[in-house]
Amino acid sequence: MSETLENLSSESRVFPPPADLAERANVTASDYDAATADRLGYWAQQAHRLTWTKEWDQVLDWSNPPFAKWFVGGALNIAYNCVDRHVEAGLGDKVAIHWEGEPGDTRTITYADLLTSVSQAANALTELGIGAGDRVAIYLPMIPEAAVAMLACARIGALHSVVFGGFSVDALATRIQDADAKLVITADGGYRRGKPSALKPMVDDAVAQCPSIENVLVVRRTGQDVAWGEKDKWWHETVEQASEQHKPESFDAEHPLFILYTSGTTGKPKGILHTTGGYLTQASYTFDAVFDHKPDTDVFWCTADIGWVTGHSYIVYGPLSNGATQVMYEGTPDTPHKGRFWEIVDKYHVSLLYTAPTLIRTMMKWGEDIPAKYDLSSLRVLGSVGEPINPEAWMWYRKNVGRDRAPIVDTWWQTETGGMMISPLPGVTATKPGSAMTPLPGISADVVDDQAQSVPDGGGGFLVLREPWPSMLRTIWGDDQRFIDTYWSRFGAGAGSGDEWIYFAGDGAKKDDDGALWLLGRVDDVMLISGHNISTTEVESALVSHPSVAEAAVVGASDPTTGQAIVAFTIPRGTADIEGAAGEALIQELRNHVAKTLGPIAKPRQIMLVPELPKTRSGKIMRRLLRDVAENRSLGDVTTLQDSAVMDLISSGMQSGK
Ligand code: ATP
Ligand code: MG
Repeated sequence: MSETLENLSSESRVFPPPADLAERANVTASDYDAATADRLGYWAQQAHRLTWTKEWDQVLDWSNPPFAKWFVGGALNIAYNCVDRHVEAGLGDKVAIHWEGEPGDTRTITYADLLTSVSQAANALTELGIGAGDRVAIYLPMIPEAAVAMLACARIGALHSVVFGGFSVDALATRIQDADAKLVITADGGYRRGKPSALKPMVDDAVAQCPSIENVLVVRRTGQDVAWGEKDKWWHETVEQASEQHKPESFDAEHPLFILYTSGTTGKPKGILHTTGGYLTQASYTFDAVFDHKPDTDVFWCTADIGWVTGHSYIVYGPLSNGATQVMYEGTPDTPHKGRFWEIVDKYHVSLLYTAPTLIRTMMKWGEDIPAKYDLSSLRVLGSVGEPINPEAWMWYRKNVGRDRAPIVDTWWQTETGGMMISPLPGVTATKPGSAMTPLPGISADVVDDQAQSVPDGGGGFLVLREPWPSMLRTIWGDDQRFIDTYWSRFGAGAGSGDEWIYFAGDGAKKDDDGALWLLGRVDDVMLISGHNISTTEVESALVSHPSVAEAAVVGASDPTTGQAIVAFTIPRGTADIEGAAGEALIQELRNHVAKTLGPIAKPRQIMLVPELPKTRSGKIMRRLLRDVAENRSLGDVTTLQDSAVMDLISSGMQSGK
């Protein structure tokens, strides 16, 4: 971006927090003041939510930026904090996980059950030669053993590297090699779209390329036939036979906890390293604050896969450290029918729901009569994460899922940030559809121009974080230089100017006239149209605000007259007529609709109606591939693409000019 981002859209709808929620909220407006007055003191207070075996001497050591140390000298055990202490407090019978398998089988796991399983797994891992500092790859479906395996690693100080179960052999092998893992924990398979989907053959192929792997621990989930080699051990013959007694050892606050590779939306994934005390502090605090979690009554459900950071922080560490009861679901949202999600909310009386814009837009495409069939009255806070949420998708979520009652928290954060950073607080913040609103207490986010100067309200630019935060990444695994280059070399001291170390998130953002923050997508995606920097997000949101559009992806393609021109790929809603002349008419109408909503500068040169969009396995739109199509190039790295057939469909549509 040369200058700042244009600010094209404006939003006047505002939704104040529900009065009853505000009255009993866990976190109130005074927390912002407390955190502003004493940021480190505020985080120290949050760290006291955890049980430490040794108190820290110093909250933050920032003497060697950008390498931070939080809660220096402190010690704790993560698994103890997520499991044992709840049992010791008399909550052994409380349900930790209501697990729902895709075929409809269920398991109810209490905190006492979880303690037994985690202790057994910790003993079994130790017997397999895993010790503190070793790396363990976890490649599992969404079954409770995934959480157990992660907690068992944390309990003995081993680092887990969870690899999403939908990834290919190559993706698994490169992640195992990069982390030099000694053990893989996997399953025979899991259920996806109504049938067993095998995992073990992928592991066999990957392990053949990974000499560092000494053992493969296999959970039996589907009962499929599996090839069996020397390194293979069944989970039920090892873990489930191990002693149920295990004493948790404490680890230094900066002991490494896990490596997790980013989703790969923009290119080759990075192995993000998180550590113990600061990470758990922020995961635990944000879960309590942003969902306003009430341990006696709430039922939480995060629909993310455990293979993403959202699953790490808001299925495992955040909820469990708070002693929450949660739902965990194995399968897809449309198996066996498109109402499965709402059926689950209804069945378990889910009160706090955390999902992604891609899912909300899919539900929009399927139609509002589907959620209307279920009792969703238990829902009291709705969360969103992963991509900017278009204002109309936000409104749809509020109306059809929240029944115009439950507040929405749009949470901005990244694998790198470890926990939520920018979000409304449901009992404090008056929200605007599509805005993540304000940094959480103790977080200093800002929007700056090219020169790292804070932009005024109404302006747009780069999203940065000016102060270190507890759950920040500590480095990129094995590559400190890439860590510095990627995140700290764009602005401030890392770029050789000023003394402030400024973290650059890679995202564009704007401040509206009230100072609320709007995320505008990745700066790599910003378009330069006749000298104006225009964000893809605003044009996409304008398209989605048309009643015939469910989802849209916009890219800038090179253009002889305007430098770049806007090309939009649009998925119509189920009800829209798109055949022949009606399709042509809709395209013209959409071009005019964008011009009317955002101004003539944002009018797309070309709009294509498509059945699907290319997405990463975590459901994010991969605009770089669409840019390749729009500019007639061969496709770049597609290893994290969910479904490669989608690209063939789109490319052939592009060539035929439709
Ligand atoms: P890679 O870094 O490999 O390209 P990725 O950035 O997609 O992958 P994640 O760490 O899973 O990997 O995603 C973080 C990114 O997701 C953020 O930088 C931002 O672009 C986007 N994001 C997450 N939550 C929000 C949100 N609430 N609003 C807008 N964007 C969001
Ligand atoms: Mg990223």
